[in-house]
Amino acid sequence: MIIGKSSSSLMQKKSLILMMVNSFSRTSLKYNKKQFSANLLSLTTTSNQSVSNSTSSSVENTLSKEIREKIMENQKVIASQSANKKKQNLVILGSGWAGFRLIKKIDLEKYNVNVVTPRNHFLFTPLLPGSACGTVELRSIIEPVRRAVHHEDYHYYEGKAVAVDTENQRVICKPNYENDPNFTLPYDKLVVAVGCDVNDFGIKGVKDYTFPLKEISHARTIRQQITQCFERASNPSTPVHLRETLLHFVIVGAGATGVEFAAECHDLIRDLSRNFPPEIMEEVSMTVIEAGSTVLSAFDSSLQKYTQKFFRRNHIKIRTNQQVKEVLSPNSLKLQDGSIIECGMIVWSAEISQGRQLPIDPKTKKIIVDDHLHVKGFDNIWALGDISLIETVPLAATAQVAQQQGLYVARHLNGEIEESKPFVYHHMGQLAYIGNYRAISQVGAVKSGGFLSWLFWRSAYMTRLVSIRNKFNVLLNWTSTFWFGRDISRF
Ligand SMILES: Cc1cc2nc3c(=O)[nH]c(=O)nc-3n(C[C@H](O)[C@H](O)[C@H](O)COP(=O)(O)OP(=O)(O)OC[C@H]3O[C@@H](n4cnc5c(N)ncnc54)[C@H](O)[C@@H]3O)c2cc1C
Repeated sequence: MIIGKSSSSLMQKKSLILMMVNSFSRTSLKYNKKQFSANLLSLTTTSNQSVSNSTSSSVENTLSKEIREKIMENQKVIASQSANKKKQNLVILGSGWAGFRLIKKIDLEKYNVNVVTPRNHFLFTPLLPGSACGTVELRSIIEPVRRAVHHEDYHYYEGKAVAVDTENQRVICKPNYENDPNFTLPYDKLVVAVGCDVNDFGIKGVKDYTFPLKEISHARTIRQQITQCFERASNPSTPVHLRETLLHFVIVGAGATGVEFAAECHDLIRDLSRNFPPEIMEEVSMTVIEAGSTVLSAFDSSLQKYTQKFFRRNHIKIRTNQQVKEVLSPNSLKLQDGSIIECGMIVWSAEISQGRQLPIDPKTKKIIVDDHLHVKGFDNIWALGDISLIETVPLAATAQVAQQQGLYVARHLNGEIEESKPFVYHHMGQLAYIGNYRAISQVGAVKSGGFLSWLFWRSAYMTRLVSIRNKFNVLLNWTSTFWFGRDISRF
């Protein structure tokens, strides 16, 4: 077994398994004791030949019929996974920027590829703020994982990896459906690209009352909430003070995502002025709250100032050096200085860089990898994208990094690059939309803001969209939005 050959200590092996199990217990799915013992047993009885028949049958006798059936089911899955013995089993966890790039590039003549991810699509995150505000349609920015590759040795399973048994080289997965039994997948090589969660910094009320912007479902909910606020505020029975609250939109976090959401929301509000009476539109306001001293901290200071000035001109209030102390309700939050802000909706777009699974680095809760993206101590496990942290050169949590890492590992696994060649990140520059057909761009030493940057922003993302179908859809959505405005129907 590879684990035996690796330099990792027993502690490391155990922690890898435990960490996933621990993190799983933090998720909304209830990982009860019964399921846990069934998982461990399924690993032992199906994989470990050293377990004697008598031992396994005596253990099995103590189990309920239900659990025995679950184990049988797991065994069936394992058998089907090992069907093509000539090829190595490659398991990929996650279908985000890193995982999806890898899936598209991997040589299926060399590997049986099994992909596990709870969402059955790849999401083009840069256009997510736009889809939350109706600039592009939700389906235009997702790509089905099942359709990513057509090959008999490519399999997709909808579920979450909940534990990695590095000793027996298996991943334990939980289907999305609450009462369905877990299944296990054997691997020769494993790629962990499970991304990160939205970071609530442990602030009370964030999880319960704010709207995150990370998944396509979040975009749909936000879009519905904006429309609901406008419709409710327009009812004749709505008191004036409530109308003001409903039409105040708060965005927490002034990184690229927060700024782009504010920009898209501003464009949506401008469109809505065609359909709502002036007395309603006069009440609309927007506030961006940022704990740091500036917006867009990753950009050059000239572009930060440009954005701040532009936001002020568009009546978007920016409150920097303000930390949220507590979110009190869906309509109010308290700042560190004690002031209370009332609003119709709070969009939480603060950093997303806190690790989600397999936390290894105690500070960032990310998986530490070497410069070949191997998880420390494991030659056959890679971690990519937001979840990974290269010890020597920490990189930003961006799609660019994740995608390049996915491509690097695919080439490495395909044998297209020398084994000794480390991962090197090539920064292509950064862009952000700031509203009203303006964007900012920073490519090398060239920094600019305005309409031309907006054209560059749109064409850059148009070329990055994966399928021709989505390129066509997005182009159509942009054209339709330009001529007819954003759709505000709620269903
Ligand atoms: C709104 C928004 C806008 C952004 N805009 C930009 C931009 O303009 N430019 C840029 O460079 N970056 C941008 N980013 C950042 C970029 O999206 C991330 O850095 C990138 O998605 C990271 O890719 P990833 O593959 O590591 O993770 P993700 O893309 O988050 O994918 C993680 C995958 O893992 C799956 N998963 C989760 N848990 C499990 C599990 N237990 N088992 C199996 N699978 C699991 C998820 O379902 C998902 O498929 C943006 C992010 C957001 C939220």
